[in-house]
Amino acid sequence: MARWLKTGADVTAVANADRAVRETVEGILADVAARGDAAVRDLSVKFDGWDRESYRLSPAEIQACIDQLSARDLADIEFAQAQVKNFAQKQRETLLDLEVETLPGVVLGHKHIPVGAAGCYVPGGKYPLLASAHMSVLTAKVAGVPRVVTCAPPFGGKPAPAIVAAQALAGADEIYCLGGVQAVAAMALGTQTIAPVDMLVGPGNAYVAEAKRQLFGRVGIDLFAGPTETLVIADDTVDGELCATDLLGQAEHGPDSPAILLTTSRKLAEDTIAWIEKLLEVLPTAAIARRAWESFGQVILADSDAEMVEIADKIASEHVQVMTADPDYFLRHMTNYGALFLGERTNVSYGDKVIGTNHTLPTKLAARYTGGLWVGKFLKTCTYQKVLTDEASALVGEYCSRLCALEGFAGHGEQANIRVRRYGGREVPY
Ligand code: NAD
Repeated sequence: MARWLKTGADVTAVANADRAVRETVEGILADVAARGDAAVRDLSVKFDGWDRESYRLSPAEIQACIDQLSARDLADIEFAQAQVKNFAQKQRETLLDLEVETLPGVVLGHKHIPVGAAGCYVPGGKYPLLASAHMSVLTAKVAGVPRVVTCAPPFGGKPAPAIVAAQALAGADEIYCLGGVQAVAAMALGTQTIAPVDMLVGPGNAYVAEAKRQLFGRVGIDLFAGPTETLVIADDTVDGELCATDLLGQAEHGPDSPAILLTTSRKLAEDTIAWIEKLLEVLPTAAIARRAWESFGQVILADSDAEMVEIADKIASEHVQVMTADPDYFLRHMTNYGALFLGERTNVSYGDKVIGTNHTLPTKLAARYTGGLWVGKFLKTCTYQKVLTDEASALVGEYCSRLCALEGFAGHGEQANIRVRRYGGREVPY
């Protein structure tokens, strides 16, 4: 039976925070829907102190951002984008169009068609999260999306050069320096100056994630990708310093980011808790990470690998880092996670920044029903059918006619009956 050596947040407080975010977002979406650009500008001033006539960056502004980066910075971004692009292209190759004869003369198929326009949100409130540009803009382009719009908030009162460079190098067609719910709303609903997109993608804070959730239906969304979560599964093959480093590395995302240690080793659990205190003394982002750890951090002691799988599947964490004697056991058995990081040589930060898998991943239990962002999310799998012979049309028509009668659909039934008469030269036998 698992024991909690440290428990997480008060559930009522979390529910109240969720309700407040929901209400704020409803208000902002209604305002942008009613007033368009004027609302976007007011909201940008209110939440980000950022006022411009047009939030779209000109080619000269984009070039100026690129010019501010060193050759090393640009080479690092290009390396990361090459990894993300390569893996996305390989994943794209697995998505084959299909055409198959399922009965003599009956041909069914599907095609993967990219959405016409995608809106890619790149977060940048607390940190200029340039990696999100590779993950969304580049992946959309690999999928073949013709119009890719991207928004990121100002950072320090101006566009973040590294984000803008990453957005441009990834191939964005329109780049806006605009943050939060107003950005997501402008892309989804359209304004007088921004044409609406068909789909919103990308991670963000609780407000951004909630805005995407509320806009779903008006537009498509990739998934619910809110504040980062991490789960470290470890046994006594690793040490407390490594586990503490990996927990705090993700807790620094924000004060609402849960970081959980799940282990079969009491000694490792105790060492990790001690190391977290030591590292919080020196980590430059300790103020945020400490709040996250104190409010949402958990340490769970389990009896076996099998019990750890059971608990981890219930947590359904965005990131799951496995550092045990047999990490592949968790690959074989776990079913609910955003991404797995197997073995101590890799870690969530590699995935977040550079290794090539997508870092936009499900949070708040969404891993029960979806994986992360990938090239397939930008593609619509659309089916088609053809009936090549009179015999096939009459055969399918007979079944169809009787099944329509069972449902009471007379008009549907006639669509079948007329074809059975024309192509089969008979009435449907009932
Ligand atoms: P952000 O860009 O998501 O949000 C900043 C914007 O939030 C601001 O521009 C502002 O307009 C808006 N905002 C702030 N306070 C508000 C309020 N009270 N009311 C309305 N709007 C408000 O940047 P961030 O805040 O740094 O958050 C980034 C988030 O992205 C983090 O929580 C991080 O964990 C998460 N993330 C998730 C994933 C994933 O895949 N799930 C990946 C990377 C990052």
